[in-house]
Amino acid sequence: MYYNSSTEVFYDGQWLKAQDLTISPYVQTMHYGSGVFEGIRSYETPDGTRIFKSEEHYKRLLYSAEKMHLKVPYTYDEFTNFTYQLLEKNNLKNAYIRPLIFAGQNMTLTPTDEVHVMICAWEWAKYLGNKLSDVMISSYQRPNPKSCHVEAKVTGHYINSILATTEAKQKGFDEALLLDMNGNIAEGPGANFFYEKDNVLFTAPLGNILAGITRATMFELCDDLGFKLVEKYFTPEDVKGSDSAFFTGTAAEVSGINSLDRVPFKLKWEDSLGAILQAKYIRRVSFNEFGNFSLV
Ligand code: PMP
Repeated sequence: MYYNSSTEVFYDGQWLKAQDLTISPYVQTMHYGSGVFEGIRSYETPDGTRIFKSEEHYKRLLYSAEKMHLKVPYTYDEFTNFTYQLLEKNNLKNAYIRPLIFAGQNMTLTPTDEVHVMICAWEWAKYLGNKLSDVMISSYQRPNPKSCHVEAKVTGHYINSILATTEAKQKGFDEALLLDMNGNIAEGPGANFFYEKDNVLFTAPLGNILAGITRATMFELCDDLGFKLVEKYFTPEDVKGSDSAFFTGTAAEVSGINSLDRVPFKLKWEDSLGAILQAKYIRRVSFNEFGNFSLV
């Protein structure tokens, strides 16, 4: 599904067939979750294939690596360059790109100088699909920012996401929504969260969440459209039965929510501010509307 016999990946400065890549069973990241990664998309635009906000993604990757004491030998523009080569080698246009930095062989709990860099890509449909999601408040909380760097994209953090999504699916929902350690809504397992009430949009402030690049794009789009978007802490009670809600993320893009804990949102999705942002987002990424794509 992710690769075939001709798929190439970038691995430590070389181009390898995905099927030929072997990894030691003693890598620290496999045992303890100490790796960092990104999820990036490229889009076919009238100007050719463009990676959306490559600089922002690779800067976040390097930030995450620094927080996890992983020494990376490449700059963000080298990463962008490798990624355009990767897309070309695999003949990909609308692609999902996954760089992963992981610690090498080390069974102790200290950093290691052996650090590996892998980048792969494949065609991946919109995460959560095109239908509206029924969402539940998870029994799992997001990790306390005092226990790890929640603002970094670390592989180990995703055990929390896997548990939350699995619980939601087992209970007949499409996705989970997680609270922070104070009982306020934080984010989804792999996406940021927004809701609309009386023509105003709300989202959780930075601190207990991943600073989503799509979330930042929502602020830019709201500015352009004259929509009011406010960062504040809020609870499930504030959200249930409000006008509308949606997730944002590179994989999910802008994804509408039908209900929270089976309480439906008031507006039809088509009539919500989220639907307008969803359409604008697609224009922005696929028509290079504001011309801010990185190309090296
Ligand atoms: N929160 C979490 C926990 C995520 O995994 C993601 C996906 N990277 C997001 C938010 C959205 O981030 P972005 O818009 O940068 O993809």
